[in-house]
Amino acid sequence: MTNSDAITHDVIIVGAGLAGSWAAMIAAEQGVRDVAVLSKLHPLRSHSGAAQGGIAAALNNVRPVAGTGPRGPLEQIPEGEEPVDSPELHMFDTIKGSDWLGDQDAIEILVNDAIDVIYQYEHMGCVFSRTPDGRIAQRRFGGHSAPRANFAADWTGHVLLHTIHEQALKHGVKFYSEWYVMDVIIEDNIVRGVVAINILTGEVHLLRAKAVMFATGGYGRAFKITSNAFANTGDGVAIAYDAGAPLMDMEFVQFHPTGLYRHGILMSEACRGEGGYLLNKDGERFMEKYAPDKMELAPRDLVSRSEQREIDEGRGVMEDGQAIWLDLRHLGREKIMERLPQVRELAIDFAGVDPIEEPVPIQPTAHYSMGGIPTDNNGQVIADAQGTPIVGFYAAGEVACVSVHGANRLGTNSLLEASVFGRRAGYAIAEFIKNGAKLHPVTGDPAERNRRMIQEMLDNPGKELVEDIAQELKATMTANCGIFRDDEKLKRALKDVRELQERFKHARVMDKSRRFNTDLLAALETKHLLTFSEVIVTGALNRTESRGAHARTDYPKRDDENWLKHTLARKGEDGRPELSYKDVTIFWDRFPPQERKY
Ligand SMILES: Cc1cc2nc3c(=O)[nH]c(=O)nc-3n(C[C@H](O)[C@H](O)[C@H](O)COP(=O)(O)OP(=O)(O)OC[C@H]3O[C@@H](n4cnc5c(N)ncnc54)[C@H](O)[C@@H]3O)c2cc1C
Repeated sequence: MTNSDAITHDVIIVGAGLAGSWAAMIAAEQGVRDVAVLSKLHPLRSHSGAAQGGIAAALNNVRPVAGTGPRGPLEQIPEGEEPVDSPELHMFDTIKGSDWLGDQDAIEILVNDAIDVIYQYEHMGCVFSRTPDGRIAQRRFGGHSAPRANFAADWTGHVLLHTIHEQALKHGVKFYSEWYVMDVIIEDNIVRGVVAINILTGEVHLLRAKAVMFATGGYGRAFKITSNAFANTGDGVAIAYDAGAPLMDMEFVQFHPTGLYRHGILMSEACRGEGGYLLNKDGERFMEKYAPDKMELAPRDLVSRSEQREIDEGRGVMEDGQAIWLDLRHLGREKIMERLPQVRELAIDFAGVDPIEEPVPIQPTAHYSMGGIPTDNNGQVIADAQGTPIVGFYAAGEVACVSVHGANRLGTNSLLEASVFGRRAGYAIAEFIKNGAKLHPVTGDPAERNRRMIQEMLDNPGKELVEDIAQELKATMTANCGIFRDDEKLKRALKDVRELQERFKHARVMDKSRRFNTDLLAALETKHLLTFSEVIVTGALNRTESRGAHARTDYPKRDDENWLKHTLARKGEDGRPELSYKDVTIFWDRFPPQERKY
């Protein structure tokens, strides 16, 4: 297939989660007629739909009951009474949560657009939980100093995704469901299209477009215990990096404090937002020692480290001492059934424990990727620290790094980021197309190049099994590049990752057929895991400080003098990541760096 028989669209968006669907819907609504979304999963199976706890915005609908203290029960704010929350407070909490690595101009946009985005969801028919007088209900979440998590029981992502998907369909967006993108074509710093496999037929196609957006989500699957769906293999970051785009702040990987023991499946932070306790084997609410003020609702990096310390010092639960109790019993049946029905079902199905009757064993679980493809505040991908654009290339959502989360994300800020910056990317793309963007020619035959690569993988007689390589990668990333890191561990991780990259060259794909070849897809995904894991480890090894989710036992302090900067990684001539650094945008007169205490 050549340039002339490629599939063409004005806009191609890769990923049908909240970020991709928002961008597609807005671009179409703004008059771009030919918008296509490719998704390796059915769009409604995107990981956004698994989000449970909530989406942040300072709506000021509820407040703590007077005189009950910061952790007391909540009530709706009577009409005309003083607000307890503001975008400014949301901004400060986000900056503090990010350990001052978030770009403050982007964070300001996030918190200001938040309110409007929530009401837009509401007007599109999204079924939020409600206060008694019918306003959108809100709950507490870690690191937020007011109750600002807007939610629909513990199905928040599900209802948001269904709402926005319907709207995208209504505006005539074309969805390619179960198409796997494996390459992006960038020449002379201009994006030209993508190469994708139609999973059903196994055929490889070149798809050309004037604008391409990546909204491919996160990459928790590089770790053994993770809350992420099987599909969260970071294809987008690996493909962009291989095509010459930089990656930013990849060393910052968030561990969520409450994954189901041994499974990693998420017990939403809403469990603690609604008042759940964390207990060690002595029945002690140990967060008293680590965050006396915020307790269980300290930010995730701090709570995960505290749990790991309790476990490492012998105060864990279960036979191997590798878990902590999440105790919800005191919330009572009614509240659990109304607010946390999904969490209860997951605990019963996967741990055989009913949280109404018993505490649930949990452990920290790899959850969220703060790093990703660097963009400006309108989703435009940038090629360097000076902000040079890669023309026509956009990214938003978890695959991108804009950066609002810096070194650590606060819960509920991610559904918000995907919505706010997905929407902004949609407007920017519409503008770009309307200003006369062109379909640029493609040199050579990238589809054929990718077909040959697949054929070589299928023909490889090697003895290595893809699944073994993936498991070994996850084991070393968890043990050596997990919650606590040091020079020795990180060097071991780097050596392991590189050895596994070599072994992958001898990996055999068992299924040689064309149609629905999930074995081949798993091999491509494993290749992506190996690619970006090297970037995570290299960034972590170089960053000789502790900040947010990046905790080095050999450099336990934050070091603003040397490290108040973003990491940029680009694939070098020798195929290894080359690092450079980029300034953080800080409003020095409003939010100068402070010590981070909770
Ligand atoms: C269990 C869980 C609970 C969470 N709860 C919350 C919460 O309560 N609040 C909150 O703010 N955040 C939460 N998060 C985080 C949040 O859900 C995600 O960060 C956010 O939804 C990401 O949205 P996205 O649009 O960037 O990507 P996703 O929703 O992950 O979508 C990615 C899309 O990319 C497609 N794709 C990927 N690779 C390819 C490829 N190679 N070819 C074609 N298509 C591809 C996929 O098919 C999919 O459509 C949670 C995350 C998890 C895992």
